[in-house]
Amino acid sequence: MIKRSCSKALKKRPIMPLGAIKSKSKCQYGPTNTYILSSPIGNFEVICCQNGIHSMGQIKEITDETFRVEKGKEVKIVSQLYKDNGYIYTPLIKLCQWLQIYFTGGSEVKSLPLPSICFASFKEGTFTGKVWKTLAEKVGFGETVSYGKLANLCGSPHGSRAAGQAMRNNPIQIIVPCHRVILSSGQIGNYTGGRRNKVKAWLLEHEGSFPPEVK
Ligand SMILES: [Zn+2]
Repeated sequence: MIKRSCSKALKKRPIMPLGAIKSKSKCQYGPTNTYILSSPIGNFEVICCQNGIHSMGQIKEITDETFRVEKGKEVKIVSQLYKDNGYIYTPLIKLCQWLQIYFTGGSEVKSLPLPSICFASFKEGTFTGKVWKTLAEKVGFGETVSYGKLANLCGSPHGSRAAGQAMRNNPIQIIVPCHRVILSSGQIGNYTGGRRNKVKAWLLEHEGSFPPEVK
């Protein structure tokens, strides 16, 4: 039998949000927050600071087996790890707007600036970081590039294996468009280590570049 005072205390105990018991991680620009966003291709988890996006990827439950497309599903914030009194970092709001246009207007995103990336999260000064940055800035909507050509764009003609490695570790899905990197044979190659090849095919089709042209 639970004492009256004790059961009362249990009833009154607030449910602690995860953010209240974990300490925030930081970059040189300040603390980050983690957001879940809805989208037509499922939910994304995004980590962001006030300076820009640190990482973005579909939630881990999404694989080729579970992948479903909900046409017209709005891009919006489903939840955020730290409540921050309802404050949302500006780069995250811009990212939502950008993604909404990406999914509904398609190539209209070409005329928009890329969402802000916090380069503190990129491996600055490394070949990997250079590959991510080059891909994000030079391979636009509806374009594809082979691993070898991407390595070339980064000034390393023999770096296609390293470029492939960088793609496997891509921290920012879609914004760093690793889905646009294909095999020189014209096959689309793997996505997320081969677990989301259907997602890669869908993204390329959405951008009007499936099957990719071999150049
Ligand atoms: Zn940052």
